[in-house]
Amino acid sequence: MQRILVILAILVLCFELYRLLRCGWIRRILKKKKEAKQARKPRGMKPKSERDCPFCMQEKRKLKLALPEMPLPWSLRKGRGGPNKKISTEGFFGPNVTCEYYGISNETIHALVGYGCHGKHEMIQDLKCQACQKKFTIRKHTILYRLKTQSGLVEKILWLLALGVDASAIEEVFGISEITIRTWLCRSGMQSKKLHERFMIELDLIHVQLDELWANVKHSGQEMWVWVASDVTTKIVPVIQIGGRTQVMAYQVVHELKGRLRPGCVPVFSTDGLRLYFYSLTAHFGQWEPLVGKELIWVLLSDFIYAQVIKHQRRRRTVEVERRILCGEELNYRQRLKSAGLSGRINTPFVERGNLTIRQFVSKLTRRTWEPAHYTSELVEPLEWWRCYYHFVSCHESLSVALAKPRQKKENQQPTRYRKRTPTTLAPQCAAPNAVRCGGWIDESTLDGKGVIELSFALIGFGNRRGK
Ligand SMILES: [Zn+2]
Ligand SMILES: [Zn+2]
Repeated sequence: MQRILVILAILVLCFELYRLLRCGWIRRILKKKKEAKQARKPRGMKPKSERDCPFCMQEKRKLKLALPEMPLPWSLRKGRGGPNKKISTEGFFGPNVTCEYYGISNETIHALVGYGCHGKHEMIQDLKCQACQKKFTIRKHTILYRLKTQSGLVEKILWLLALGVDASAIEEVFGISEITIRTWLCRSGMQSKKLHERFMIELDLIHVQLDELWANVKHSGQEMWVWVASDVTTKIVPVIQIGGRTQVMAYQVVHELKGRLRPGCVPVFSTDGLRLYFYSLTAHFGQWEPLVGKELIWVLLSDFIYAQVIKHQRRRRTVEVERRILCGEELNYRQRLKSAGLSGRINTPFVERGNLTIRQFVSKLTRRTWEPAHYTSELVEPLEWWRCYYHFVSCHESLSVALAKPRQKKENQQPTRYRKRTPTTLAPQCAAPNAVRCGGWIDESTLDGKGVIELSFALIGFGNRRGK
């Protein structure tokens, strides 16, 4: 009996010993694995050059058209006769492409005069070009052109659309058919795009974060993504594009971004771990330098700093965040961000927050939406309209500045201590709300036959109402 007990005790002891050893062994293997993982370095990625970007090459091939000469001011040509100017026509030009005054918005030069009004509910000004005798309404090429609905209602509905209310919900409340609402949204999307092209130029950005968010498009044939670039200090979103997760798309996004920057401005970049960004960024932020006895080589700019933030996930939870600098020095990265009043950390929180904002305000991108987009175009227009609203109208909480002297209100009310600002108020070249007035805004950058491009009434209405 005793023997059996001893044997049993020895067996138990052996088993315990085996278990302990096994635990230690497994721990050692795991530790080794972890150490090996930490030492992981990015695989050899070679920078690309300008020649790899199809859009850069396309641009190089394009010939630049010479600007037409300025014609003689109409006031000098017509002499003393003819009608006098009673209303200001500054900022307009006629839709006639063949007219020699086409594209000239300066009222001291062009041949426009007032030509009465029309409209049942609202007075809509008409203009006439004395040189070519063409008449047109100031609503031409605006959202409101040939709309019978009152501009106030159109404004209200577009406002709701910019805040992410679905068209079907608006139909139920206002009794306007969904097709009509979609037409308005389509128009405002197109206008917003033009507005963006006009004002988002020569931007001086400090820290640009890039990211992409998945878009639910039914009949796209491939996975669609919304590519977003946003600046941390001004909160401007210089680029939004929809497309697959391909290298060509990455080139297109960075190409547009570079085109919107002031020449010589090289912001600090941070993105997620997608390799496509590395190739497209290096292809755009470098220059050709001659080597002795060899042809030109593509060298990255000394100011160019690019960092990646890679989030390792397990069961939908972030377990590890890996940060690495792929181009430039980490010290420079921190210094440049700190000098701009930022934390200097390597991360991408702003663009991620921005993506959530987009999801919230574009009803087609909402998670678990009732009605996902069928085609990509259904997403482009609401996105453009949202961006226009976001840039020029909505005030960003973090951009508010404290007033030197609080503005007093009525007796019992709290004084105003902060001045609200929109993202574009921080970029001087985007000072659109000052430059535009009712239907009086033109675009010189698109003189390729598109005619007058004017800002929507709706947008200006918002601006006024928000007390800007
Ligand atoms: Zn390019
Ligand atoms: Zn004319």
